[in-house]
Amino acid sequence: MSDLLNGKTALILGVANRWSLAFAIAQAFRRENAELVLTYQGERQRQTVEELSAELGATILPCDVTVDAEIGGLMEELRRAGRRLDAVVHSIAFANREDLNRPFSETSRAGFLMAHEVSAYSLVAVARAAAPLMTAGGSILTLSYLGAIRVIPNYNVMGVAKAALEASVRYLASDLGPSNIRVNAISAGPVKTTSARGIRDFSSILDEVARRAPLRRNTEPAEVADTAVFLASDLARGVTGNVLYVDAGFQIMGM
Ligand code: NAD
Repeated sequence: MSDLLNGKTALILGVANRWSLAFAIAQAFRRENAELVLTYQGERQRQTVEELSAELGATILPCDVTVDAEIGGLMEELRRAGRRLDAVVHSIAFANREDLNRPFSETSRAGFLMAHEVSAYSLVAVARAAAPLMTAGGSILTLSYLGAIRVIPNYNVMGVAKAALEASVRYLASDLGPSNIRVNAISAGPVKTTSARGIRDFSSILDEVARRAPLRRNTEPAEVADTAVFLASDLARGVTGNVLYVDAGFQIMGM
């Protein structure tokens, strides 16, 4: 491929390991010549993210999105380094395992709030903090899943949080559009990652997709990443407030 992101700096939140969708996105952005800043969530992740960022020539900084001071500190660090941001990738979600393992109606108040704080509100907080650094406009991107609009077994509270995330994309796109900042989501088909392993019977979801999706197969992380390149690039300059499905077409199927 080419230089689709040449001259752009991208902040990517959500690389935990080599299987993270955010890592596939970081690799594709690097291939397109973007400058990269990756974040890690706490000391436990630091070494792995350090090793992965070394492969990409990326800078790394800490950021736990539940801590406002860490989001502020991250942006302050970038500002001090004179970094303009052109793209922000939010690839973050979390729900308590027990809330994914029992009927949705039994979701606890604390579990509901936790899933929404990490998986939906964090996009709002990150977008607000990043926008002042996006002085030439830019692209903010998040990752969603079909569970936002349809009932997927065992996705439960995470589906409700993804619905809030997708609605947040639309409201942020409206707020930030006058600054030429675009906000979109990619709704990715299921991919085996650390987060996905928290969903009971995840492999049966993969089997169902391979059987029923128009393309008769599952989604590759690189396919999600290439769509992220498009959304971050000037090719998508007219696209904002959207949810783009990268799911081998599964979401169109009824029966
Ligand atoms: P992953 O486990 O590799 O990534 C999840 C990331 O969220 C991790 O890097 C983790 O550190 C981060 N995170 C969680 N809580 C955080 C916090 N408080 N502060 C900062 N970071 C925090 O799994 P993934 O599948 O690559 O997930 C990335 C995104 O893609 C998520 O939003 C997920 O819902 C979405 N998604 C995944 C799939 C799939 O099937 N894997 C499908 C559609 C959408």
